[in-house]
Amino acid sequence: MSPVDTPLTDGFGPLVALVGAGPGDPGLITRRGAALLARAEVVLYDRLVSPEILELAPAAARMVCVDQLPGCHPDRIGTISQAMVEAAEAGKRVVRLKGGDPILFGRCLEEVEPLVERGIPYLIVPGVTAALGAAAYAGIPVTDRRLSSAVALVTGHENPAKTGGSLDWEALARFPGTLVFYMGIARLENLANRLMAHGKAPDTPASIVAQATMSPQRVLVATLGDLVARAREADLKAPAVCMVGPVVACRPVMNWFDRQPFSGKRILACRPRDTEGGQLVTWLRDLGASAHNIPTLEIVPTEAGGIPGLVDGSRPGWDWLVFSSQPGVQAFFNRLGALGLDARSLAGVRVAAVGEHTGAALQRHGIRPDCWNPGGNAESLAAELKGRAAGQTVLLVRADRGRDVLAKTLGPVCAVREWVAYRQEDRKKLHPAEADWLAQAPLDAVVLTSGNIARALARLLGEDQLEAIRSGKTQVFSLSPVTSAVVRELGWPVAGEAAEPSMRALVQVMLDVWKR
Ligand code: SAH
Repeated sequence: MSPVDTPLTDGFGPLVALVGAGPGDPGLITRRGAALLARAEVVLYDRLVSPEILELAPAAARMVCVDQLPGCHPDRIGTISQAMVEAAEAGKRVVRLKGGDPILFGRCLEEVEPLVERGIPYLIVPGVTAALGAAAYAGIPVTDRRLSSAVALVTGHENPAKTGGSLDWEALARFPGTLVFYMGIARLENLANRLMAHGKAPDTPASIVAQATMSPQRVLVATLGDLVARAREADLKAPAVCMVGPVVACRPVMNWFDRQPFSGKRILACRPRDTEGGQLVTWLRDLGASAHNIPTLEIVPTEAGGIPGLVDGSRPGWDWLVFSSQPGVQAFFNRLGALGLDARSLAGVRVAAVGEHTGAALQRHGIRPDCWNPGGNAESLAAELKGRAAGQTVLLVRADRGRDVLAKTLGPVCAVREWVAYRQEDRKKLHPAEADWLAQAPLDAVVLTSGNIARALARLLGEDQLEAIRSGKTQVFSLSPVTSAVVRELGWPVAGEAAEPSMRALVQVMLDVWKR
């Protein structure tokens, strides 16, 4: 294909986008970047890009971590560009997802040159660069009317042994404003010494922000003179930026990040995809945690076919329709749609729901449950239904390995039919980005919402992570007594249990336990 024939994205726009992913917090990607990612067919991403951002790409997209491409630093750039060119020439929409901002210390020009040579159109979407992410999340204003009216973004990666390097240290030492160095921790000593050798005062406030906007973010405040010794003590890990200038002293006033109730906490949630897990993770993040949802179970709809007792055109063969989970509601309405039917088929039928989220899902389908226990479980719904549905026919919509409480309790008094709407399959393997997130630092907490989810997690985690759970270093929070029982069976202590089975109550118990 000649470059002029390069097809257009959905009819519009170039095929290759270089997108800034921001410094770490997945909320910091731009809307434009997210929109391009949502339509990508091939994604070439830097290793530190968070899994939540990668999840914005369609499930079918080819995800390539550029650190795993053959060839290594610095020749890797050629390999990355070649991968972009090949995909674009095959007519694929490519997103090259880069840490921070693409054109700041990102070797963007080198990646783009081969595209230019071949006439492949591309676009660049800016991102939040590490310096500004670090400044905002560490509470250091990079400028201030009284303290600093200029900012220099400087690479500290330059080889210090290189004579005649491109940095003018004398000018940097005299720079009238804030200096921000993008650097490897190993370069710190050289950097501080050079600034001081060229006249920068040793008592100039200086700070290192490591893993900025991620969790655990580490911030060290010192002076230029004792920065190296303090950094050694603190054992900071890459990636990090170093800020030098009087504005660093503003941190005690502007440090909002560490004042959040869950700041510094790394929390793993394990809700199946497309359930209220998204809400749970949003709340945890609102409280300052670095929270991530890694489903341990896959919800798989059962094979196509009818719903027992439901025949088009006639009244269903049951008086009550009982849902015990949100995925059950979803699977039921999906199947109804596949059969060419809709909610009107339920006219005259009574509907029951276990728990807050199941009932809420029904309401989204326009159904107000007749019998619903928002704060309750299968036991309490069964107890209520036993009276109300006695002598009637009941269809239980369930999972393949759900509990049998409803069937057992209602069996003696109702005609019970069951429909297995979906299967729960244990995930066998983590996505590389999920494994990376888990490996970044130990977990402070795991939030478990069912026994099956807990058992599947036990098979999915590595020995180190399991040991941390067994020893209580990673605390387990549980949705209900039933979940807690399974957690204890696995030999894991339970740090807290929700007062009622809802995501809100789960978050509340974490707040209570950690306040103590
Ligand atoms: N284009 C990127 C920078 C790439 S160079 C940007 O605009 O941010 C890589 C350097 O960026 C790292 O060595 C480190 O100095 C800095 N960096 C990237 N992410 C960071 C983070 N979350 N916290 C602190 N420094 C970070």
